[in-house]
Amino acid sequence: MPRHTAQYRGRFAPSPTGKLHLGSLIAALASYLDARFHRGKWLVRMEDLDPPREEPGAAHAILNSLQQHGLNWDEPVLWQSQNHASYCALLDTLEQQGHLFNCACTRALLGPNGACQGRCQGRTHPAETAVATRVTVPHGHNVEFNDQLQGVQHSQLGEDFPDFVVKRKDGLFAYQLAVVADDAAQGITHVVRGCDLLDSTARQIYLQQLLGYRIPHYCHLPVITNAQGQKFSKQNHAPALDQGQAAQNLRQALRFLHQPEPPTELDSVAQILDCAAACWNLHSIPATAAIAASTDAYS
Ligand code: GLU
Repeated sequence: MPRHTAQYRGRFAPSPTGKLHLGSLIAALASYLDARFHRGKWLVRMEDLDPPREEPGAAHAILNSLQQHGLNWDEPVLWQSQNHASYCALLDTLEQQGHLFNCACTRALLGPNGACQGRCQGRTHPAETAVATRVTVPHGHNVEFNDQLQGVQHSQLGEDFPDFVVKRKDGLFAYQLAVVADDAAQGITHVVRGCDLLDSTARQIYLQQLLGYRIPHYCHLPVITNAQGQKFSKQNHAPALDQGQAAQNLRQALRFLHQPEPPTELDSVAQILDCAAACWNLHSIPATAAIAASTDAYS
């Protein structure tokens, strides 16, 4: 039965590196249905933060495809490319709190897990040197959180992501920084996304804690993999969704999420979504990191 959760705000945050495929539709649909089930708001954020990785036209193609599938957002789309001032402001805050340092290490100098190994902290680099900005993570620092689907997660942040990068040497803001800025600015209370981002969550929680932000509820869905066990992605040639098959695509995504099949007489995307939102059950989704697509889903 649908529940009303005061001020539930969820979001889908695609990177425009390719068109929407079944894997990204599953993440979009799950976050949408969870928001609708809780009578909350559902937002879309375009994570166009890394121009070299983007495919021309993909951002608009993704938005168009979401609309074709009836996944209509409740507030204007936030474009990360237009939000650099917020990321600079967040870096200033972290800097003033004494959590940042510049690192000029080349790849060859970095230690295990990309650690700077203490060469750069407290050092001033010549103005012409390209530097990455890192946030200090105390050695031995752990982060624990309870994922709504995958259960309690422990991260040895200090070991696994030592002093991680928040602004890259090429001048681009790191995803971890931007996502924390935007989730806070958009008042996101629930993050529903793929398990491929599970190991990013501890870094995001760490930043949220430093900044005194409210920590959203996290839910990491199994990702869909091809016959070779690779995540559906543009790199692995996941086919773009056929817009003419939107209702069938939604039904396929619902089967993957182990949700009840809407009656066959419902044929519009709006009817299918209304029916799926009314009987949405997050806990029917298998609590695994990945599920192989049936061959027909990937053909
Ligand atoms: N932009 C990220 C991606 O497409 C998702 C970020 C998020 O949901 O936090 O993989």
